[in-house]
Amino acid sequence: TSFEEIQLTEIIRSNIALARYDTPTPVQKYALPIILGKRDVMACAQTGSGKTAAFLVPILNRMYESGPPNFQHARSRRKQYPLGLVLAPTRELATQIYDESKKFAYRSRVRPCVVYGGANIVDQQRDLERGCHLLVATPGRLLDMIDRGRIALDYCRYLVLDEADRMLDMGFEMQIRRIVEKESMPRTGERQTLMFSATFPHMIQMLARDFLDNYIFLAV
Ligand code: AMP
Repeated sequence: TSFEEIQLTEIIRSNIALARYDTPTPVQKYALPIILGKRDVMACAQTGSGKTAAFLVPILNRMYESGPPNFQHARSRRKQYPLGLVLAPTRELATQIYDESKKFAYRSRVRPCVVYGGANIVDQQRDLERGCHLLVATPGRLLDMIDRGRIALDYCRYLVLDEADRMLDMGFEMQIRRIVEKESMPRTGERQTLMFSATFPHMIQMLARDFLDNYIFLAV
């Protein structure tokens, strides 16, 4: 299988080529068509498996297909309404996902942003004000941005929980639940939800049951 065989828009194709990805990794090969087909996914995949592109490529593809992001509903730049949200356990992982998203969003109108704790919040706020269509975030800092009125989740159509088992190990369960169960967050069925985890213990199964809608289980 090559990326050519997967139905992707021109801009994504050329960005994949620029990134010098020729052959999809196994998780990409299986996850891409499922995610493009609008299904929720619970995927067991390790770091290094190519899982980041496995969710970024189809999400960005779907964003491009639904037309350029239109943010007329946002009254000011002060509050941003991302279409996609990726939650990650650490600053390092969030930064890696953000770097990867910039490759695939290159020359498109989709602007990715990243926010994480332990760094200057004012700088991050200033970056958000330039436009945020895809937000990569650690849970605590995201809640902070929501409380400050800088981010609202009303138009979040794509939600990814990356390294979900690590997020639980780090004690983020309550924060994740506060985010996903926010009144403003679109319900399951109105959003597409993807969970990635290296392991699938009971706690992760409970999260999948609560957050995903009729999901496909993928183990690679
Ligand atoms: P990940 O598991 O998402 O952290 O990806 C591990 C590394 O593999 C990253 O450096 C990616 O840029 C790279 N990578 C992901 N998918 C591919 C691919 N299809 N071809 C070549 N490199 C890839």
